[in-house]
Amino acid sequence: MPDVTKGKVVLIHYTLTNSEGEELDSSRGGEPLPYLHGHDNIVPGLEKALDGKDVGFRETVVVAPADGYGEHSGFAPQAVPRDAFPADMPLEEGMSFVVENEMGDQIPVWIAGLQDDVVLLDTNHPLAGVELHFDVEVAGVRDATPDELLHGHPHGLDGDDDHEH
Ligand code: ZN
Repeated sequence: MPDVTKGKVVLIHYTLTNSEGEELDSSRGGEPLPYLHGHDNIVPGLEKALDGKDVGFRETVVVAPADGYGEHSGFAPQAVPRDAFPADMPLEEGMSFVVENEMGDQIPVWIAGLQDDVVLLDTNHPLAGVELHFDVEVAGVRDATPDELLHGHPHGLDGDDDHEH
């Protein structure tokens, strides 16, 4: 049996760059990132590449936008008055939350920018349309706890982290 199979908590180290070689994110120099394999915790292209691999696997995995954070819709961010948000709600570029449209659909949006009294909301993930280059390493694998399987995500490196939900 390979190490990385559905329902295992996989600890990965990764450095993410775009096609220009610009570093976007990295776990190096810190703790590895735990995720629950087979539960959509990470982008589909990366999860697929790690399936059936063993601890020690290291490779650069190139993930097309469709298997990453999606294609870019082409729609520009929309300006929404700052007043539309609770005054005590801290707003930051890159933050995401879910809004409901007129149809009652839940739409994820990201804050693409902040101006004086205007918030720019984008329905595209900040990395939509970006080809993702993951230098990824399987640093460890462990069994998931029953709670983790129930929740569909890991509770920290060892499975004993508390969290609020
Ligand atoms: Zn949980």
